[in-house]
Amino acid sequence: MNAITRTLKAFTLYEFVQAHALTLKYFFKPKKTINYPYEKNPISPRFRGEHALRRYPNGEERCIACKLCEAVCPAQAITIEAEPRDDGSRRTTRYDIDMTKCIYCGFCQEACPVDAVVEGPNFEYATETREELIYDKYKLLENGDKWERAIAANLEADAPYR
Ligand code: SF4
Ligand code: SF4
Repeated sequence: MNAITRTLKAFTLYEFVQAHALTLKYFFKPKKTINYPYEKNPISPRFRGEHALRRYPNGEERCIACKLCEAVCPAQAITIEAEPRDDGSRRTTRYDIDMTKCIYCGFCQEACPVDAVVEGPNFEYATETREELIYDKYKLLENGDKWERAIAANLEADAPYR
């Protein structure tokens, strides 16, 4: 009986027709996939992506070199050196993040009293070498300048829940 059924299916192209029926069933339905990188899904304001150091609107660095982020980082990915400026304010002379060590826990962002270090919305920063993932202060400030608008909007959206 099984042999007869198999033969009949083979002659009538049953599985071929069945597969095309399934294709047709989903052909006109809304697509579950998107055309990345031209289309992207929305991401949460709490998304923890590439790090950035932010500035105040007057261009001054927010970071006050308190080193809380360095102390709290469980991966010991952050290295900070600091010294007072001529005006008495305390600022970093070195702020490095080893992105190959980072586990994207967000503790640095949570610990920062002035919202200086943040994990922004950017997730497209793959590199060809590990060296490119050692971020220094200038790279982080550059990220902050580039993503400030999105970062500020995300922080504002999340503020009622913090
Ligand atoms: S996200 Fe976590 S692991 Fe990464 S630098 Fe911040 S505190 Fe360290
Ligand atoms: S980024 Fe924030 S937590 Fe880290 S040293 Fe600067 S002010 Fe302190």
